[in-house]
Amino acid sequence: MIEYRNLRIALLGGGSVGAQVAALLREHGDDLAQRAGAGLELIGVAVRDLEAPRTPEIPKHLLTTDAESLILGADIVIELMGGIEPARTYILQAINSGADVITANKALLATHGPELFEAAEQVGAQLYYEAAVGGAIPIIRPLRDSLAGDQVERILGIVNGTTNFILDLMDTKGSTLEDALATATELGYAEADPTADIEGYDAAQKAAILASLAFHTAVPLESVYREGITQITAQQVEAARRGGYVIKLLAICERITDPATGEVGVSARVHPALVPLAHPLASVHGANNAVFVEAEAAGSLMFYGAGAGGIETASAVLGDVVSAARRHVIGGPGVAESTKANLPVLPIDRVTTRYQMTLSVVDQTGVLAEIASMFNDHGVSVETVAQSVGPATVSVAGTDEARATATLVIGTHAASEADLAATVAVLKTSDVVSAVVSVLRVEGL
Ligand code: NAP
Repeated sequence: MIEYRNLRIALLGGGSVGAQVAALLREHGDDLAQRAGAGLELIGVAVRDLEAPRTPEIPKHLLTTDAESLILGADIVIELMGGIEPARTYILQAINSGADVITANKALLATHGPELFEAAEQVGAQLYYEAAVGGAIPIIRPLRDSLAGDQVERILGIVNGTTNFILDLMDTKGSTLEDALATATELGYAEADPTADIEGYDAAQKAAILASLAFHTAVPLESVYREGITQITAQQVEAARRGGYVIKLLAICERITDPATGEVGVSARVHPALVPLAHPLASVHGANNAVFVEAEAAGSLMFYGAGAGGIETASAVLGDVVSAARRHVIGGPGVAESTKANLPVLPIDRVTTRYQMTLSVVDQTGVLAEIASMFNDHGVSVETVAQSVGPATVSVAGTDEARATATLVIGTHAASEADLAATVAVLKTSDVVSAVVSVLRVEGL
């Protein structure tokens, strides 16, 4: 019989994820001890309300409201409370008392990551956060360890299950955004206040974490460009499918070259995008997540699975527990978070991508040429034009005249955001354009 050293584990939070972690630690303690090379003893679970019902149940003797005392007696602290404070203070206390810390808290990492990583580095502790992005999907460890010898060029991620569920329902069932959101709320995929999901805040936090890790550069949350899905219409989704695309909310982290200065930097952005139906991300349905990584040597890799859920997320947390325990057994300092590349974080207007624009234009001879020249004048090269009649007529200002309209769907070659924005501005003031109906970026070509 092998005698294991016992490691004391403190759990902060006994909610959706925390209660599952507590149950799995107790159910699989012996197996986990063998994998970790150390006994794993759950010494307590800090919560706010000692009487609240928990699923699965946590034995009453483990519950406490005194998180600080719990932390002081622990070798490994698992933070699953969420929010910024007191989670930040507790994590710093844990690190400073010599514990390794595991967290699933994307909001905290995206806003205070550098402070926490630095505190861990100073005392030789390690901060693990596999569950902070993509729930059950292993993506942090592959980026930090498996791809440590490669150069990541680009990450395209579907990292928010709620918005993927909504967009998928709009695509597969023809639902409106409002109806799809109502269904998501009914089924528990969307919170009562869905702002963090549908406005892209949650995905932006994950983009900041992924970009920082992939490019060895601290990418602050404020530098992540963000657009949610609230402007996406059923008509856009339907037109996308007819054109061979599906609309997905993507978190995109890229190594890019500034078109103006030639400077190499990184960019992180979150927005809805047209994804070709043949791209692996197009087949990510429901509330699932997927992260598509392009690396110099490895080529394209995709990580796919459940992006949330109590027990699914607990799986990632327990993987971190085993890693932390192995490190304790072996000894030595933790692996510090690398920001050595320290690349400049470039704003959205330096990004180059393709676009698809839908215009309602006056249906008369010469309009196409006039519009093409507006694109050309601003350095945006048109790749495809598709035209259909309608949907209506427009009245000519100051007259009784009504002109027929046509709809133009224009696909561009790669162009900079700045050039595209200048083109849209001039199109909006043009006599021959009655409306810029939609502008969507095309990704994954
Ligand atoms: P949750 O269900 O709201 O649970 C939070 C837990 O923390 C509760 O047990 C709560 O105690 C406790 N807590 C909150 N503030 C506290 C305080 N000041 N002192 C002591 N205890 C406190 O949250 P969750 O869904 O498990 O999420 C936990 C973390 O995992 C978050 O950072 C979240 O972003 C992340 N995450 C969650 C998922 C998911 O699918 N749920 C997926 C990926 C990542 P009471 O129970 O007494 O109120």
